[in-house]
Amino acid sequence: MQISQKSKEIIDSCRFCWMCRHICPIGNATGQERNNARARALSLSLVERGFTMTEDIIDNVYECALCGACTKECVTGWDPVKFTKEVRLDIASSGKLPDYIEKMIYNIEKTGNAYGETKINSKLLNEIESLPKTADTLLFLGKDAICKSPESAISAIKLLKKAKVSFTVLADEPDSGYAMDTLIGAAEETRQIMLDTAEKLVYNTIIVYDPADAKVFLREYKEWNIALKAKIKTFTTFVAELIKNGKLKPKKSKTVYTFQDPALLARDLEETAPARVIISACGELSEMLMNGKDTMWAGNLLMNEYMPKVMELVSSERWNNAINASADVLVTASPSEYEILLKAKPENMKLMRLEDVVLSALEEK
Ligand code: SF4
Ligand code: SF4
Repeated sequence: MQISQKSKEIIDSCRFCWMCRHICPIGNATGQERNNARARALSLSLVERGFTMTEDIIDNVYECALCGACTKECVTGWDPVKFTKEVRLDIASSGKLPDYIEKMIYNIEKTGNAYGETKINSKLLNEIESLPKTADTLLFLGKDAICKSPESAISAIKLLKKAKVSFTVLADEPDSGYAMDTLIGAAEETRQIMLDTAEKLVYNTIIVYDPADAKVFLREYKEWNIALKAKIKTFTTFVAELIKNGKLKPKKSKTVYTFQDPALLARDLEETAPARVIISACGELSEMLMNGKDTMWAGNLLMNEYMPKVMELVSSERWNNAINASADVLVTASPSEYEILLKAKPENMKLMRLEDVVLSALEEK
């Protein structure tokens, strides 16, 4: 395989180690050993030693959520996400991508999103058209919210309007490159999407709604020297500031919330505090097992395209943690996790987006 020496070392270190098996959200959901970092490394170590890269091994490479829980857990500092992404690039370069991944890449190239959506939700379009056409600040919604979770996008817009923020949203918003980076890693196609997007985003500040897009703007763009002129702020950081400086004044209730930290925020961007500032201003916070940097990933929309049953199982596992936190409401800060958690929501629990928590606390005033 055309992968770095470092990735080969990680594969050889992980292949006989089971120390992080208990922490993998996919392995825990399926109960299958093949989904742990160790099993993936073992089969890839065989490929390195001359075995054929079979379709089954390729499928297994795409069963990883890239959530980084194993990396966080590894006391010896190995990073299975690194080799998994590099192997995805190698699979793409050697023309062996499975059909379900090819289809999403085709969609990105043809429609600008992995889902092949060509139309924007009419209610969301009305919200966008109600905003000024130009402003110094852009709210970047991201493809998951626009294509698969328009109600999330609408709530985000409504909250910034309530705070009287002067901002705009692009109806023809470019793609951050997150999906392509996830599907085939650091390919030239991924870099080109990011370069085109960086050129289009000429603003003073960009508030990034989806942690997935924030992660690539703040990490991959920097790593690949793709300059974004704007100051990038996560939506959660921005809203926490609005509360701190009195632009939003939610009324604190006795509702008990528990928070699903998105792995992309908590681990990749090391951001855990702002969401807690927001929730604590609106009600009581009860932490569930595995929170903050130790969070357990609760699914995503990209994998839902080819592993929908597993996504439901993953979210079901996470609901068990929420129930044990004795909270009334599970709160999300990722449109992707919101949609997947909705699939397995228990009848007696409530699921809310962070922005809806604030909007409802404003209404109580
Ligand atoms: S990431 Fe660390 S703990 Fe997990 S299998 Fe590899 S070496 Fe073991
Ligand atoms: S990155 Fe996440 S899904 Fe992939 S092996 Fe590690 S813990 Fe499992």
